[in-house]
Amino acid sequence: MIGVPEYFGSMVFNDRVMKARLPHETYTALQKTIREGSTLEPEVADTVAAAMRDWAIEKGATHYTHWFQPMTGTTAEKHDSFITPYGDQVIMEFSGKELIKGESDASSFPSGGLRATFEARGYTAWDPTSYAFIKDDCLCIPTAFCSYGGEVLDKKTPLLRSMEAINKQSIRVLRALGDGETSRVLTTVGAEQEYFLLDKKQFDQRKDLVICGRTLFGAKPPKGQEMNDHYFGSIRPRVREFMKELNEELWKLGVLAKTEHNEVAPAQHELAPVFTTTNVATDHNQITMDVMKKVAEKHGLACILHEKPFAGVNGSGKHNNWSISTNTGKNLLRPGGNPYGNLIFLTFFCAVIRAVDRHQALLRMSAASAGNDNRLGSNEAPPAIISMFVGSDLEELLISIQHGDGYERPKKSEMETGVGYLPHFNKDRTDRNRTSPFAFTGNKFEFRMLGSSASIAGANIILNTIVADQLADFADELEKADDKASAVYAIVKRVVDENGRIIFDGNNYSNEWVEEAQRRGLLNLRTTVDAIPYFESPESIALFARHRIFTEAEIRSRAEILYDTYIKVIDIEALTMLDMAKKQILPAVLRYCGEIAQTALNKKTLSASISREAEEGLLSRLSELSAELAKRTEALERTTAGAKHGEDSYEAARYRRDAVIPAMAELRETADELEAITAQSCWPYPTYCDLLFGV
Ligand code: ADP
Ligand code: MG
Repeated sequence: MIGVPEYFGSMVFNDRVMKARLPHETYTALQKTIREGSTLEPEVADTVAAAMRDWAIEKGATHYTHWFQPMTGTTAEKHDSFITPYGDQVIMEFSGKELIKGESDASSFPSGGLRATFEARGYTAWDPTSYAFIKDDCLCIPTAFCSYGGEVLDKKTPLLRSMEAINKQSIRVLRALGDGETSRVLTTVGAEQEYFLLDKKQFDQRKDLVICGRTLFGAKPPKGQEMNDHYFGSIRPRVREFMKELNEELWKLGVLAKTEHNEVAPAQHELAPVFTTTNVATDHNQITMDVMKKVAEKHGLACILHEKPFAGVNGSGKHNNWSISTNTGKNLLRPGGNPYGNLIFLTFFCAVIRAVDRHQALLRMSAASAGNDNRLGSNEAPPAIISMFVGSDLEELLISIQHGDGYERPKKSEMETGVGYLPHFNKDRTDRNRTSPFAFTGNKFEFRMLGSSASIAGANIILNTIVADQLADFADELEKADDKASAVYAIVKRVVDENGRIIFDGNNYSNEWVEEAQRRGLLNLRTTVDAIPYFESPESIALFARHRIFTEAEIRSRAEILYDTYIKVIDIEALTMLDMAKKQILPAVLRYCGEIAQTALNKKTLSASISREAEEGLLSRLSELSAELAKRTEALERTTAGAKHGEDSYEAARYRRDAVIPAMAELRETADELEAITAQSCWPYPTYCDLLFGV
């Protein structure tokens, strides 16, 4: 058996492989492109392509694809085989041109109106900063995707641009503070992925799960997550097998899957990778979601990535751990032993605080989707209000700088377990706050609002851009200052004065916080429809233009896609509900009523009179609720039919939120009541209990 170190990254055309397989000059030229963004000469591309092809064929690949991340939030690939006719035979060919540029039918992907129908062409362009890899016998080449007119149609390109922006502004700050050494600054991300595993046979019996990825009906099970016995509990054998293969497949693809454990809800699990550069982490998260689904199927399981598969049970998120570090390996958000004297740390730390406060709406928007609306603010995930947790130690430090007081760092305290042979260790200086949407965790920030199914690109584009913008302001100031320390302390003071309202260390799930946040003037954007307009605001357009991330047209198109996706998701859910109510639930209840009536007819003796009363009671309740169900089905049908699909996307989305979703909730309420009093044998599909405890 070969060990993990031997097969780790075996399906990746990584630096080691390039070094070994490329001529020295080619390797050096490619490295220059990767590091400095210089243009790649055609001959270099040809040599790289030939080496990639040979390597891929040795690994059993027969096809190649430009792998890209369109606005659907997933990845797209169109496989082409390497074969080229050669007399009666074929040879395997792959040129530099094919490596660098691909053509794709842009009209099949969302463009938010950027692309006129007659301009169907779209291009994919190789991103040499992310390694090519082999998946399903296909060589996948990470690429950017744009329209014929050059507008960006993917999530990757703006992410790379935002990384450039934060690099540029960070270097300015570092230079102003006397760092002459750092030549590149990168943001890093570790994305923790939550998911549910269900039995595939049960999953297949539910139209709502198959079509919408979540249940639209379902009475609460007698046991949910109340006992907290699933969290970190021992992992069941079938799940363990799945995790074993998942890890192996991810490791082959160079994804640093590190920890896995059961999550809070029954059937819920989590996978955390080791962090890496943001664009690579984004690719890896997409690969992870893809591989999770495939491996699950092989084990007779269905992997659910939806944000809220079950009402009343914890939903799934994605924690985006984010930090900034230099090419020399220094984490700029590490406070170190003396944070008071660490001017670089203070500047970057305050840049994040000010950026988050000033751009709450954009951050909220970056996590907004119809799916995530079911999760945020329902007392289990962060609320829809953005706030930050920095820990009492740093909070005290910031306040003492604000007041111009001296600051003494508290001594380390030792953990006392009271058991001699347990190892002694230093306590972390601050506890965690699990309820905070944006928490500082020692040397990184953890943004916890992201939905489990979303690409992490969106949130990181926003994070990088808003922090870059703030760093730009600080750089302007620091470059001019003679006394750098006083300038940094003045910045800290201003940030605490003006942006301190964003810092909150209490319980983010409480109702008091909603009121307190309102008093502080923080935004509470409850739904996707509330959040999108901020993306199109004049300030937002100016911000993204300043750092060359998005043009105004690109922002408008993206907002359009967000509305459009929201509308489609709700419409599909509503139609699925109608279908299930009419074709499955109502017929099942009528069948059950028929059974009861039949039993009653068969019983003629007097002693059966007690059960007859019960039967009659049940029958009348069933018929009452069935009538209600029919009425509410009709109401939802009418509401859906009245929905506009027209010009004004905002209004159309608002209609879904304010009219369609409430009608769906009403229908569900009646159906769930019916489920609770209908015999299990008559119910047309697996219940919550079956699903959550079925693996
Ligand atoms: P914690 O103890 O705070 O949970 P972990 O080390 O378990 O920290 O990290 C949680 C996640 O954060 C992991 O995915 C990890 O790779 C990631 N992470 C750690 N350090 C960084 C960093 N500097 N930048 C980005 N992500 C990081
Ligand atoms: Mg976490």
